Amino acid sequence: MKMDFRSLANTKISSLTPYQPGKPVEELERELGITSSIKLASNENPLGPSPQALLAAQQALPHMHIYPDGACFELKQALSHFLSVKPEQLTIGNGSENVLELIVKAYLDPASNAVLSQYAFLTIQILVQSYGNIKMVPAREWGHDIDKMIAAIDDQTRLLFLVNPNNPTGTYTNENDFKRLMQSVPSHVLVIVDEAYSEYIAKTDYPDALKYLSEYPNLVITRTFSKIYGLAALRLGYAVSSPDIADILNRARLPFNVNTLASRAACAALMDHAHVKKSVQLNHQGMRQLEEGLQKMQLNYIPSIGNFITIDVENGAAVYQKLLHEGVIVRPLTAYSMPKHIRVTIGTAEQNERFLAALQKVCDTSSAKMKATESLWRHDH
Ligand SMILES: *Cc1c(COP(=O)(O)O)cnc(C)c1O
Repeated sequence: MKMDFRSLANTKISSLTPYQPGKPVEELERELGITSSIKLASNENPLGPSPQALLAAQQALPHMHIYPDGACFELKQALSHFLSVKPEQLTIGNGSENVLELIVKAYLDPASNAVLSQYAFLTIQILVQSYGNIKMVPAREWGHDIDKMIAAIDDQTRLLFLVNPNNPTGTYTNENDFKRLMQSVPSHVLVIVDEAYSEYIAKTDYPDALKYLSEYPNLVITRTFSKIYGLAALRLGYAVSSPDIADILNRARLPFNVNTLASRAACAALMDHAHVKKSVQLNHQGMRQLEEGLQKMQLNYIPSIGNFITIDVENGAAVYQKLLHEGVIVRPLTAYSMPKHIRVTIGTAEQNERFLAALQKVCDTSSAKMKATESLWRHDH
């Protein structure tokens, strides 16, 4: 008899829609037989890693036969100093998605739920569905509706996720809303603030969630080395929380989840303030460049404080495909039920220029086609 291994699986898992990552440059070039394409699809740092991080990883290479330090002693020391928290408050993961999974795995079960905003980072939706249930709250102007999120909490709620700023919308929750949220959430519900882009942010009303840790032991902050630190391939992220929560997360963690190259590179990256500063400046200039270009084309976009911008192009999937043929990889947002939008990572000035030119070309042809079909339609009717 033939076994149906799909139906044997845990239904929470078999019903998942897999996450669609940004298309790798190599894959596009293989498929279309083109060269020198650019990827602006995964919010990576266009400057790459700090040269010091690169050196630290290279120096660790000859020792790759030795298991990593499962306790991440050095990195915890460095982070504890950098963030002014105790090492016992830290949980280190294989990317922050790993840390997010530890949280969900430790605190959610099939009977409980997590409150999440519409358009919130898809990885979190997938994680919550894998272990428990989503209590989805409709977005407000593409961002998190804090009052509705507070109202959505019920007896079965264990977690509430605040993605700040949110990916893919670039929207953020300001300090007043954040304070109101923390004051209103019952103390047994964990509030997880995903701060993957916090290092980029210059807004004075953007809350520094770390400041609230001593007052709210139910607060958990997650951050990553994948974005501004340019170490996405090495996989490193962390959570800061009360020591009790960190103790639980570290029990849920597998012994060698963080590799030596990643932790060495991360320690060095953390110290290279000049590289971080340069990355922030490049991002701000690039954001202005893209906004001006989009305004000239009369395209609407969602104002973003991250290192990416989400643009209304009428037909996201079609524009995405056409941009691929121009050698520019962006992100369609159909998986978020945002069929009109594409998300674009801020690149170098040159990459931004290339994207704008490609978008102009692609939009010209589609509006020309639209006009052609319109006139056809008029003739027909
Ligand atoms: C990119 C991103 C992450 C980072 O994931 P890693 O696993 O650390 O690479 C986490 N949260 C959000 C909202 C992101 O956009």
